[in-house]
Amino acid sequence: MRVYNITIDGPCGSGKTTIAKAVAEKLNITYLDTGAMYRSIAYYCKEHNIDVNSETDVKGVLKDIDLHVEQIDGIQHMIVNGEDITGSIRTQEISMLASTVSKIPAVRLRLVDMQREIARNICCVVDGRDIGSYVLPEAEYKFYLTADADERAKRRYLELKDKSNTTIEKVKAEMIARDEQDSKRAFAPLVVPKGAFVLDTTNLSFDEVLEMVLGKIKK
Ligand code: C5P
Repeated sequence: MRVYNITIDGPCGSGKTTIAKAVAEKLNITYLDTGAMYRSIAYYCKEHNIDVNSETDVKGVLKDIDLHVEQIDGIQHMIVNGEDITGSIRTQEISMLASTVSKIPAVRLRLVDMQREIARNICCVVDGRDIGSYVLPEAEYKFYLTADADERAKRRYLELKDKSNTTIEKVKAEMIARDEQDSKRAFAPLVVPKGAFVLDTTNLSFDEVLEMVLGKIKK
């Protein structure tokens, strides 16, 4: 079978992960969550007291991090130095640390190599911030999802509220700070990729977005 890739980029809370998973399931192909890879590096740094603001310190430990992405029963697991850390990387603290660590070119180059290697060999839906613009600019289908900040904050809050003691205001502030950092970094920032189909999901249901994305792919 011909290998093809679908990229979905966008800011946090735009719905890209939910849609990427559903598209992958519908098409019976792999879903690759690249945010989880940046989160894994951030988690390692936190556990080993590495200052994510120090490019030298982070670069220095990259060689000590043995990172694997494993698909187990259709769920992506992140394995760092033999330990499955999947359940520990979805906190607000790790979100912000991941955004900071992701500014470092050496981190990006390492993860981009892994992402390209995976996408070269299998059909997959890949979501992130720079997938259609930098990682896989030649992908067959490219999407950029967005939504207004209040709606995105509401969605993130609903995801987090049972797991952490947070408020919608805190979630919104963290989200805006993270988007700003992700859009303003020098290397491979969050942008609308050339040729991407842009979808504002603010007033759309999950089913509507899924139908539009699948409709574009079938065309
Ligand atoms: O998508 P998720 O919220 O898990 O991503 C966490 C962080 O990882 C983002 O805020 C961003 O800084 C970084 N990231 C990135 N490039 C990607 C995916 C994620 O810089 N392709």
